[in-house]
Amino acid sequence: MAETMKNEEVSPLAAASSPEAEAFRKEILRVGRKLWERQYVDGNGGNISVRLGSSYVLCTPTMLSKGDLEHADICLSDLDGNILAGVRSRTSELLLHLEIYKANPQARAVVHCHPPYATAFAATGSTPPNGLITEYELFIGPAAVAPYETPGTKAFAETVLPFVMDHNTILLTNHGIVCWADTATHAEWLVEIFETCCKTYLLAQQIGKPLTFIPESKMREILALKQRLGFPDARLHDVTLQAEGISAKLERLVEQVLARLEERY
Ligand SMILES: [Zn+2]
Repeated sequence: MAETMKNEEVSPLAAASSPEAEAFRKEILRVGRKLWERQYVDGNGGNISVRLGSSYVLCTPTMLSKGDLEHADICLSDLDGNILAGVRSRTSELLLHLEIYKANPQARAVVHCHPPYATAFAATGSTPPNGLITEYELFIGPAAVAPYETPGTKAFAETVLPFVMDHNTILLTNHGIVCWADTATHAEWLVEIFETCCKTYLLAQQIGKPLTFIPESKMREILALKQRLGFPDARLHDVTLQAEGISAKLERLVEQVLARLEERY
């Protein structure tokens, strides 16, 4: 990627028309299309944003389907939610995105939507159990559950704050899901992984056989890999991987998985 823009020195209009902003707009449109095609949003639901340098955010507007977004619909906001460029009004749920950005500098993009299986769990204030599906463990780990608040309010935006450092995926009770990542594409991947995990867990329960959980020792290997990759996981506070030392065998495993991930990314 090109060198990140130092937009303290750049006016909002210059930032909004920079090559980096152009690339982010295209990515937001692609992600919006995926959310709509995968039926993760209904009506005008859901929103996507990307940080632009240190002072600005590009975001989707209010009252538009994520399947119908066009280039000119994407707004430029500051970190207080003031629209500085663009012809449309921002979504009130941008406040949720901004709280995440202000709390966790690792978050460079946020996707919020209402996928049916994840939202079904959100309606119960619970998440699928951990230890069943490797993709969920590796890329997400335990998802958090934020308490219900009225959408669009400051109080709603602040419900995620206790979780945003250790969780890249947060269920919003009675509402939907919010994921953050380094890019909008990767934040949308987290939505896909979580939604699939919710669906698979419900299907597995219908088979009528006991669930098979990943052994504890293998879970430790996944956590070691996550630590190496810099992925957040609340369980990393609970395990003393350093104290025990990572064996040569585990180091080799990490190398193999990293090589496979590089192919995938
Ligand atoms: Zn929503």
